[in-house]
Order: sequence, then C-alpha cells, then structure tokens
Amino acid sequence: MRLDKFLVEMGIGSRSQVKQYVKKGTVTVNGAPVKSSDVKIDENNDTIKYNGRILNYSRYRYFLLNKPAGCVSATKDNVHQTVIDLLKGENTKDLSPVGRLDIDTEGLLLLTNDGALTHHLLSPAHHISKTYYAEIDGYVTDDTINIFATGVDIGDEKPTLPADLRILSSDSTAARSEIELIITEGRFHQVKRMFEAVGMKVTFLRRIAMGELKIDESLPTGAYRSLSEEEVSLLR
Ligand code: URA
Repeated sequence: MRLDKFLVEMGIGSRSQVKQYVKKGTVTVNGAPVKSSDVKIDENNDTIKYNGRILNYSRYRYFLLNKPAGCVSATKDNVHQTVIDLLKGENTKDLSPVGRLDIDTEGLLLLTNDGALTHHLLSPAHHISKTYYAEIDGYVTDDTINIFATGVDIGDEKPTLPADLRILSSDSTAARSEIELIITEGRFHQVKRMFEAVGMKVTFLRRIAMGELKIDESLPTGAYRSLSEEEVSLLR
C-alpha cells in the first residue's frame, strides 16, 4: 500500500495533509525518516511511526462504548454530541454505531467499520439478544413477566417476540420497580413502548449486554475501549 493511503486510513489526515506531514519528516518507516509519501509500504510487517507513535494497521476497528445520556447514536448531528465525538483521538473514518440507543439511554454500544459484523448483529433474522437494565415507574409483577413472555402489542403490525423479563425489585406502595429485560429484536423505542403498553414508564434505561458481549463495568459512563479479538469472536 502507498504510505499516504496508509496514513489516511489510519486517520492521520487528508491525502494532502499527510503529504505535508511526511515532507516535514514526521513519519518513519522501520526507523528511517521518509520524505516521499508515494513509497510503498507493507502495512502488515513494516513499523510505521507518526511523531514517534507506532501506527498499528488493522483493516477493521471495534470499540465498546459505555454510552452516556445526552449524545446521539449517529455519526453526525447539528445539535447534539454524537457517539463518534466521544472517540477522541481515534481513527473514526468509516466507523458507525451498531444500531441505536435513544439519546437518554446509556450503556453498551459497539462502533465498528466492519460492515459484515454490523449486518450480522442487526439482521432481524439472527435474533441477537439485547439485555437492558431499567428503572420503571410502575409495579412490575409476574403478570408483566407473562405478558412479555407471550408478546406485547406495541402498535406495530405484529406483537413483540417473546422477551425475558426479570424483576430485580418491585415496590407496590411506591409503584417503582427495577428490572432486567432480554429482547431479541431492535424495534424503535422497543423497551419503552413495551412498558407503555402495560401502563408503565421507563425512567432509566441502560443496555448491559449484546449477544454474548457484556458491558465492561470498569468503563465509566462516556468511556470506551477497543474490543479484544476474543470479544469480537463472541459476536460473530
Ligand atoms: N429500547 C428503547 O426504548 N430505547 C433504547 O434506547 C433501546 C431499546
């Protein structure tokens, strides 16, 4: 691959910017400064450094973000901060969130440029599970568990697929509950609409797992990290 293409793919800058950086001597290949950006490099075996920092090439990037409330699951937005904006200093070229969480929903959100994996995870045919923790205005009971297990009419063409509801706490006097819910679809505002359908309101929502991948409890809200190879393979 040409050095300038590599540097652009690594998110260092535009084609014309990286040419300037190379001219200034900020890039080394196997320890030797290069001044010409059209040299051919072996992106898998050569050691390329930009301002002394090694640039590790991998075609696909995978990030696990602990999404905070207040930012949108989009790549661009004129009003709100996006989940991409939170990946400061990373190569975000071609990166997209895998599905959407509402602006006020927190928790596990994957971001990748691996289109095949995104398709696999979002395809309605694959029924990838999504697990949510929620706080509810309402008294959740075994009846609610049974209704969710059968399928709920949320106003769409078809009722929801069976969902697995677990009560963590439920207070009839205060009419407040904490639950975990596993769904295998990704309908618009699905969790909120399922509770609305039984006369309750979600007051806090956090995704804690997607398929076999669980949220990293050591990641503060708003923080992210790269996925390990083992974690990526859990998702395939
Ligand atoms: N269900 C919702 O209602 N909102 C989300 O963000 C995710 C699932």
